[in-house]
Amino acid sequence: MHTDYVAALDIGGTKIAGALVDGTGGVLVRAQRPTPAKESGERIMGAVEEVFGELMADPLWVGASAVGIGSAGPVDATAGTVSPVNVPGWRGFPLVERVRAVTGGLPVTLVGDGVAIAAAEHWQGAARGHDNALCMVVSTGVGGGLVLGGALHPGPTGNAGHIGHISVDLDGDLCPCGSRGCVERIASGPNIARWAMGAGWQPGPDGDATAAAVAASAAAGHPIATAAFERAAQALAAGIAATATLVEVDLVVIGGGVSKAGEVLFGPLRRSLRDYATLSFVQGLKVAPAMTGTDGGLVGAAAATGLGARGLGARDGDAAVVGG
Ligand SMILES: [Zn+2]
Repeated sequence: MHTDYVAALDIGGTKIAGALVDGTGGVLVRAQRPTPAKESGERIMGAVEEVFGELMADPLWVGASAVGIGSAGPVDATAGTVSPVNVPGWRGFPLVERVRAVTGGLPVTLVGDGVAIAAAEHWQGAARGHDNALCMVVSTGVGGGLVLGGALHPGPTGNAGHIGHISVDLDGDLCPCGSRGCVERIASGPNIARWAMGAGWQPGPDGDATAAAVAASAAAGHPIATAAFERAAQALAAGIAATATLVEVDLVVIGGGVSKAGEVLFGPLRRSLRDYATLSFVQGLKVAPAMTGTDGGLVGAAAATGLGARGLGARDGDAAVVGG
C-alpha cells in the first residue's frame, strides 16, 4: 500500500514550480526553475524536464499516480497545448504529450492558472464548503476560475472563468488580448500604477512605482492613489457582478499581489459591488481574501486531477470522500 501523490506543475511567466502533493494538500517535494520565457520552446521544455528530473529522483516519486498542470493561459486542455501570453516560445506547444513522455505515461490534467487557483481555494481555502464561487487572482494580470454546482468548472479548454478579459469599458483602452476596456487593462497591478502615475501620483524617495507603493500611499490617504484603487475596484466589481449574474455565484475569493492592499482594495470593491450587483439573487454576494498563498497554484494543479475529491489521504480500497 502506498500513499497517493500527484506531481503538480505551476507554470508562469517567471518561474516553473513543481511539487509532489499528497491527499491532504501537503506540498512534500519541491523543485523550481526560472522560466526562460524569451527562449525557444525546447529550452523552456528543458526547464520543465529539469523540474521533473528533481522530483523523479526523490524516493516518494514511486507514489506519484497522476500529473496536474496549472499554466498561464491560454491553455487548450482538449488539444493538450499551451500558449502563455508572456511565453512567446510556446504557441500551441504540446505540453501534455511531452510531460506524459517525461513521466513514463502518467495521466496528465491541464488547466489554466486561474482554474487551478479556484480548485485550490475550493479544496483548502476561502471557497471551501461553497458550491458556487468565483476565485480570482489580481496581480500582474487578472485571472480567475469557477466552482459551479459544487465542482470545479474548467470548461472544455480549461480556461472558463477568465474574468480578466471581460470588457467593462466598451470604448476603453486597447488590451493586449485584442479587445477593449478589459478588467485586466484597468485593475491589474501594472495598470493601477500606470493610471496613478498618469494622474499625477509620484513614487516616494525609494522610487518604488509599483501598485504596492500606490496601495501604501492610498492607505496613508493620498487622494490620487485612493482614486487609482477605487477605479480598479470599480472595474473588478463590474466584472464580478456580470459573472455572478450570469452563473449565480455567492462568493468571490480574491488573491494575488494586488489583493495584499487589503481594505484599500476590498473596501471600495464591496461598495462598488452594491452599485453593479443589483438583482435580488446577487445582492448577497460575499467577497473574501484568498487563503492558499504562494502554493495555491501547485495545490490547485493537484486538485484539478481530482485529488481533493478522492478524499483526505485516501488509499487504494478506501471509500472516496466527496466534497468537504
Ligand atoms: Zn483583454
